[in-house]
Amino acid sequence: MTRRWLFADQLGPHFAVGHDGVLLVESRRALARRPFHRQKLHLVLSALRHRAAELGDSAVLLRTDTYTEAVRELGEPVRVYEPTSYAAERLVRRLHADGVVEDIDPTPGFSLPREEFAAWAGDRRRVRMEDFYRFQRLRLDLLVEGERPVGGRWSFDDENREPPPRGAERLDVPPPYQPREDDIDAEVREDLDRWTREGHLSPVGDDGPRVFAVTRREALAALDRFVTKRLGAFGPHEDAMLRGDWAMAHSLLSVPLNLGLLDPVEVVDRAAQAYRDGDAPLASVEGFVRQVIGWREYVWHLYWHFGPTYRRRNALAARRPLPGWFDRLETDQVDAACLQDALTGVRERGWVHHIPRLMVLGNWAAQRGYHPDALTEWFQTRFVDGYDWVMPANVVGMSQHADGGAMATKPYVSGGAYIDRMSDYCGGCRYDPRKRLGDDACPFTAGYWAYLDRNAARLEGNHRMARPLQQRHRLADLEAVVAQERRRAATPP
Ligand SMILES: Cc1cc2nc3c(=O)[nH]c(=O)nc-3n(C[C@H](O)[C@H](O)[C@H](O)COP(=O)(O)OP(=O)(O)OC[C@H]3O[C@@H](n4cnc5c(N)ncnc54)[C@H](O)[C@@H]3O)c2cc1C
Ligand code: SF4
Repeated sequence: MTRRWLFADQLGPHFAVGHDGVLLVESRRALARRPFHRQKLHLVLSALRHRAAELGDSAVLLRTDTYTEAVRELGEPVRVYEPTSYAAERLVRRLHADGVVEDIDPTPGFSLPREEFAAWAGDRRRVRMEDFYRFQRLRLDLLVEGERPVGGRWSFDDENREPPPRGAERLDVPPPYQPREDDIDAEVREDLDRWTREGHLSPVGDDGPRVFAVTRREALAALDRFVTKRLGAFGPHEDAMLRGDWAMAHSLLSVPLNLGLLDPVEVVDRAAQAYRDGDAPLASVEGFVRQVIGWREYVWHLYWHFGPTYRRRNALAARRPLPGWFDRLETDQVDAACLQDALTGVRERGWVHHIPRLMVLGNWAAQRGYHPDALTEWFQTRFVDGYDWVMPANVVGMSQHADGGAMATKPYVSGGAYIDRMSDYCGGCRYDPRKRLGDDACPFTAGYWAYLDRNAARLEGNHRMARPLQQRHRLADLEAVVAQERRRAATPP
């Protein structure tokens, strides 16, 4: 008989509880270690306490300073599932060596076991998400007929990148699932208020009504609402942004997925079933499946594949510290409409969708040369779905190109023209996306050229950057643009 110790991101039924009961731990030190978003703290505590309440007598919920204290206080050996960070892995290995942790089982939180990814990666010179995704589709028998993709194509990306509908302030889709708070949430709110008042915590961001699912029941309701009401619009508008529509047609499932409340395979099976039933178009379903068993799992495996030092890579030698206004999510002095809205979204709910993360916040940081390690920490603590495993590939690799191209073949930087095409921000902005010089020069457009100029030597060998690097020589005002951006770097845009 061995009790199962479940971490706060292992809360769904696929993290089997068995007959021997469960240990859940609220570690005060883990909550206080970093300046997390207030709503992230709320979600994690609420999820843990709801799970403990559901399990009733079979769960022991311990509130201790550290995890080690909790397992020692329990006084009996426990089994664990592989945790999701290097630090937690070191801890359970140490406790395993001490005999406190009896067994470490492979995690059911991702569809592909770590050793199978290692076998797949084998001695490939370079791992590629597209190859991994096809491998996953075939392995999971998802949207395939034998060895061939349903619809004759593996990717519908080219149909899934439409700008927002012209003139629309919002997408014409039903709103996302909205959970209802209960007594447990009220208690969590009270505790967080008190701990903050007493100086035990220094959270950032606003408190607000809970937006994301924290129980299995809520997670299933959120999945159901997304698949039945919103999935059809997901694909075409995946990359679009509207200032009046923070959620667009996104699933808002990253929080329940990362809390371990949903099995990723059940999520994509639901989407594939919607296609088979004729309830959602293939392009949208493929786009969504790609995110969940493609990107999400790929990012998870890269965390281990690239190793613990990957997070500190800085191939473009970016060293600027994050300015206070950015760090603290203060937007009152920010005029740039896109950046203002993205930072406000982070402050108000700890979440903005993929494109504001990548093409507004990440793009902004890359152009200004923010230190990638500090930025990784910022994303991890400011976002409600931020976890150690999800940051390095997304931030260091994809968004900052600080790994020298191990993850993405080219940096995700762009000028204001991209944001103008994919959003309704620029019309109401004091800057002009077509201008790179002058008072109303768009900081993204000017920042793009300054970025290329600063990193030209480091990006020279990258054939996908050859054209933009070449194009900069045609700008008669490049020097003035670079000087202007150096001057403007000190103040909010
Ligand atoms: C700079 C940057 C930081 C990010 N930080 C996080 C993070 O802290 N936590 C997080 O879960 N995702 C992160 N992502 C990935 C992605 O932006 C979010 O998963 C997504 O916006 C969450 O909203 P959603 O659930 O509505 O996703 P949808 O757009 O509906 O996508 C469906 C699901 O696919 C998964 N997914 C898609 N892309 C990725 C990806 N690149 N990495 C991991 N999962 C992915 C998520 O689980 C998501 O719920 C980040 C991306 C970038 C570029
Ligand atoms: S003009 Fe530039 S700063 Fe303003 S919203 Fe457009 S891209 Fe953003």
